[in-house]
Amino acid sequence: MSHQLTADVVVVGSGAGGLLAAARAHDLGLKVIVIEKSDRYGGTSAISGGAIWIPNNGESPIADSPAQALAYLQSVTQGQVPDAKLARYVEVSPQVPAYLKTLGVHYYTHPTLSYPDYYPSAPGALASGRTMFVSPMDGRVLGEDFFRLRETHPEYLLLEKIAIDVTEGVQLLAKAKGWQGTLLRLLSRYWTNLGWRRRTYRDCRLANGTALIGGLRKALLDRGIPLRLKTRLTRLTVSHGRVSGVIAEYEGRELQISASKGVVLASGGFEQSQSLRDSYLEQPTMASWSGTPRNNNAGEALLAALDIGADTAFMNEAWWAPTVPMPSVGTPNTVRNIPLFFERGYPHSLAVNRLGKRFTNEANSYHQFGQAMLRDQAATGANLPCWFVFDATFREKYPLAALLPSAVVPDSKLPPGWFDNLLYRADSLAGLADKIGVPTQALEQTVEQFNGYARLGVDAAFGRGGNFHNLYYGDPQHQPNRTLGELHKPPFYAVRLDLGDIGTKGGPKTDENARVVGKDGQPMAGLYAVGNVAGSVMGATYPGAGATLGAAMTFAYVAAEDIARRTG
Ligand SMILES: Cc1cc2nc3c(=O)[nH]c(=O)nc-3n(C[C@H](O)[C@H](O)[C@H](O)COP(=O)(O)OP(=O)(O)OC[C@H]3O[C@@H](n4cnc5c(N)ncnc54)[C@H](O)[C@@H]3O)c2cc1C
Repeated sequence: MSHQLTADVVVVGSGAGGLLAAARAHDLGLKVIVIEKSDRYGGTSAISGGAIWIPNNGESPIADSPAQALAYLQSVTQGQVPDAKLARYVEVSPQVPAYLKTLGVHYYTHPTLSYPDYYPSAPGALASGRTMFVSPMDGRVLGEDFFRLRETHPEYLLLEKIAIDVTEGVQLLAKAKGWQGTLLRLLSRYWTNLGWRRRTYRDCRLANGTALIGGLRKALLDRGIPLRLKTRLTRLTVSHGRVSGVIAEYEGRELQISASKGVVLASGGFEQSQSLRDSYLEQPTMASWSGTPRNNNAGEALLAALDIGADTAFMNEAWWAPTVPMPSVGTPNTVRNIPLFFERGYPHSLAVNRLGKRFTNEANSYHQFGQAMLRDQAATGANLPCWFVFDATFREKYPLAALLPSAVVPDSKLPPGWFDNLLYRADSLAGLADKIGVPTQALEQTVEQFNGYARLGVDAAFGRGGNFHNLYYGDPQHQPNRTLGELHKPPFYAVRLDLGDIGTKGGPKTDENARVVGKDGQPMAGLYAVGNVAGSVMGATYPGAGATLGAAMTFAYVAAEDIARRTG
């Protein structure tokens, strides 16, 4: 016989969307249970940068307005998302950082580190100010729950151990004013915390996504909201025409949880399911290319919603990001897929398909770069994978995925097994072309042409470096164009780029209240979907850094309010 629990609201998934929905529903007077299939809470949100894209947030150094934000979203989503949904995002998203503050999670904009919107020529685009960052927190307030929090992404750790937030990371990489002081402070805080060091190597300071999730988890603990780990949704139950709860599996046993007022699906995308990728995404596609935690987001809630008649939206879409298969220096045997979020903007680098030809503006956002990979694959059949090529100047000065600049970690200190396996290196372009299987003459011609553009500072082929977004990601010291630099200093290098993602974004279609819409076009009573499990409010696009967590938490907030309004 199956075990039974009861609640007003069942939330499925413990990423940012799920935990925020749970806290908000509780604060509106509802009894909430959160279920999470993994033995760790936090999902992809925990390994993320934690940044959120909040237009008109009141802190932007550049004037912003709801009308401007709406115009931008309407332009970039190209009519694929109903205006009512976009308007709801513009209206509610500024309330999210304010609500998070009441939960003890602090967001701020940064005067210098403020990412530009990703479509600089769209009406209403801002050169900075819409992306907000999360303040670090002390994880010790979580007690034993600290150890059940999914660990941060290795890229957000200094020396594989010490938590650094985005602003510290940028300061250290750029060796910007005061970097030595920051480094000393970080090292001494970690190593002098002797009591905690005796317990674990894990830094008790939480930054980025772990600060967001740690803060939300603390809010749930303070409110006594149960979070059940290792509890996997398998089906939804329907009674008297409304969704009335979930069937879950816990340690091989069935668990029925009734939800008298609503079920909120917040279980992430389906990027870890190869069969769902094969069914819905363009081919070829591999779960192993994704940058999200293995085995978590496999689309069970999507299938459960389809089973009871949900309609879908944007099933062929993901938040694309080219990923590089590369371990960290300290863990040479574990290959990880590391998204190349910003490195493509540094000078002395370009990307080519397997014909040795450039195919896009490399300094565009990771999402646009991924879409360009797909287009080029359709046109040539010679992308997926493609190659990121750079010279010794790039290698010396700039980081790339898990590689620190060679000025800090020279090639001689890298595991020898990496060479001509994960990192290809040759003394000439011809030698490199040979190693990566690209036609020599084509690669040489591509580089020669690109070097001409770099000398002029104008990329006549793809316009790289011709807008404020591209320039933001270049090297301010490099002239005449901070993102265009010749590739002329040997050795030359290449890494393979797969069409990775940081989550799929197709799923049950939802309305402006986050209610799942059925195939008959009507909202399905009692069922909500937020975050990457839902058909995205951003459609096929990615407006700016933080748009995925921003959307997840905005519609989590909306869902909780809607449940309370309809049933209160
Ligand atoms: C390295 C990296 C950096 C990123 N940085 C940013 C950033 O700074 N800003 C930004 O906006 N986005 C960022 N992203 C993307 C962002 O992390 C995701 O889009 C976001 O976390 C999705 O949130 P979610 O709540 O929908 O899902 P998730 O956070 O993935 O949470 C879903 C949870 O549901 C659980 N679950 C799945 N199926 C079931 C089931 N059947 N039953 C119960 N539980 C289930 C999963 O185990 C998981 O814990 C980044 C991603 C990566 C990989």
